[in-house]
Amino acid sequence: MRKENIVAETRRQTSHAGAPTALVTLSKDIAVLGIELSNSRLSFGVGDLNGTLDYVERMPASPQLSQQEFEQLFSDSAAAVREWTTARGIALRHAAMSIPGYGREAGNPIYPWDMERMHVFLDRVLPDVPLTLTNSVIAQAAFHRYSQPGGYSISGDHLFLFVGHGVAGVIVNDTAPIDAFQAFEIGHMVIERDGLPCRCGHKGCVEAYTSLRAVSQIIGISDADILTRGDHFMEAVSVDPVARATLRERQFLLGLALGNALNLHPVPKVVVSGWPSLMPEGDRAAIAEGLNQSLLGGYSRERLGLSFIESSIGNDPKAALHYAAYCFVRSGGLDERPDQPVAMEEIA
Ligand SMILES: [Zn+2]
Repeated sequence: MRKENIVAETRRQTSHAGAPTALVTLSKDIAVLGIELSNSRLSFGVGDLNGTLDYVERMPASPQLSQQEFEQLFSDSAAAVREWTTARGIALRHAAMSIPGYGREAGNPIYPWDMERMHVFLDRVLPDVPLTLTNSVIAQAAFHRYSQPGGYSISGDHLFLFVGHGVAGVIVNDTAPIDAFQAFEIGHMVIERDGLPCRCGHKGCVEAYTSLRAVSQIIGISDADILTRGDHFMEAVSVDPVARATLRERQFLLGLALGNALNLHPVPKVVVSGWPSLMPEGDRAAIAEGLNQSLLGGYSRERLGLSFIESSIGNDPKAALHYAAYCFVRSGGLDERPDQPVAMEEIA
């Protein structure tokens, strides 16, 4: 990979014993494409292996997007990206697209599309770029885990939980690649019989109470405003006591669902990203209260490590871009296009 200038090794004077003496820096000259279907929009972004975005286009997409509508949106966005990269002589080396609900053997319950048709379509529209599909929460986990600086340092088996437009988790295990993991759709756990309607068609799902869309209704600012303000949206609003109490209650429900998920798949640590990360610590205690009422044996700091990391709201398609970089590097930086084979020895 050094020969192809994908990585560079730099020697640094270390300040303390045990620190690494060589750092590997990813090349800024390799371009990857990240595509996300999230936040009610389809986002395309071109950037480097460090996750710096040079091009972003976001098109509004309905939460009930049909496959045909998706294909139209995707074709238009792909044509715009092609025009932009061609004008600059940029060759995209890898692409990744993250989709909520993706990866289930029985099909995607959120976007119940024909996957065979999808693959044929993607091959036709993006013929020159190796493309990896993944679940949105897996891309988010890869983004938080491997983005430098800022990647979180929790080690050992843990649940990464993202509370954004969707609510989902993934069990992260240090010894396995992140793309091998199965996403947990915690957001569609029904916690209230005949409760609030959810985009999945059921009523009373966790997502209907705790997603950003639910938060937007509680605090009275639009979904679009939240996405524009991103990680600072809470600072911009004055949350009245009634709304704040409702948000605390929603965090309690999130804790309740989280405890139930952990009863099915116990892990010693949970890392939370999304809007709860922006809440005052005193209010976040409601998550622990919910956990205490559902987690077998109850909740205590000794039994379960609960950490809150960067919220990353409205930054799509950054997670998919990082995931594309992750896939590119993990594939050894090989050019996967069949007409341009590169032998392993050349880059070893
Ligand atoms: Zn649902």
